[in-house]
Amino acid sequence: MTRIIAIANQKGGVGKTTTAINLAACLAERHRRTLLVDADPQGNATSGVGVRKNELEHSIYDLFVGSATAEECILRKVYKRLDILPSHVNLSGAEIELLDMPRKEFILKEKLAPVLKSYDYVIIDCPPSLSMLTLNAMTTAQSILVPLQCEFYALEGLSQLIYTVDLVKERLNPELVIDGVVFTMYDSRTKLSAQVVENVRVNLKQRIYRTVIPRNVRLAEAPSYGEPVIVYDSKSAGAQSYRRLAKEVIER
Ligand code: ATP
Ligand code: MG
Repeated sequence: MTRIIAIANQKGGVGKTTTAINLAACLAERHRRTLLVDADPQGNATSGVGVRKNELEHSIYDLFVGSATAEECILRKVYKRLDILPSHVNLSGAEIELLDMPRKEFILKEKLAPVLKSYDYVIIDCPPSLSMLTLNAMTTAQSILVPLQCEFYALEGLSQLIYTVDLVKERLNPELVIDGVVFTMYDSRTKLSAQVVENVRVNLKQRIYRTVIPRNVRLAEAPSYGEPVIVYDSKSAGAQSYRRLAKEVIER
């Protein structure tokens, strides 16, 4: 069965896209057929794997408004075993266009259904909001992975995310679970990172991934080359950490 994981946290800049791109690439490296879905109008996951957003014939926007199938929108083999359903800035208007569509919370789920058999993993990069796009990701996924930045305000907004997941579970997708949280941008030189991790471990009643993603400049540089970090600098600390995360995800 295909495992579908949404990478979500409505807080901005916490490492969702970095995690989506690199987890997807590391799953593919481990011989899993993987689809990366860019559900964010910013399109950072799309450009992060080297796809030029402005030259696309179809994107996830066309899928949402009903003018194209997943088959038509997916770009194949951007890396070995890694396909992408790219985003486009048009998607930012989709929210309003979707308003009076029937079953608007299930569009992504229904559109992806015919292609799922081609994949072992589908990783969905969500926008920094609890919008209709995120809701679509949550009805499509079986689980949510929540990146938490190792900073003082890490937990801010998390209770709202958990509440939303509970609502979705109750009303739209009974199988949905929070798979766990992943700490990102951990800085071993500061006390703060360690304190945040410790504080969250004690206070948060959610599963926490053993793998902690360090702050690593290679992770920040890789997207500007359109490459996952395992391609850009395979031996970097960032690459090693996402490989460990992929292994953990597979073992769950
Ligand atoms: P948004 O909410 O805008 O979609 P996001 O949650 O997807 O943001 P990212 O885009 O992944 O967050 O990361 C935010 C910024 O931090 C980016 O510039 C990214 O390159 C950088 N970054 C992410 N993770 C790391 C890391 N582990 N080490 C260093 N820089 C990182
Ligand atoms: Mg992002």
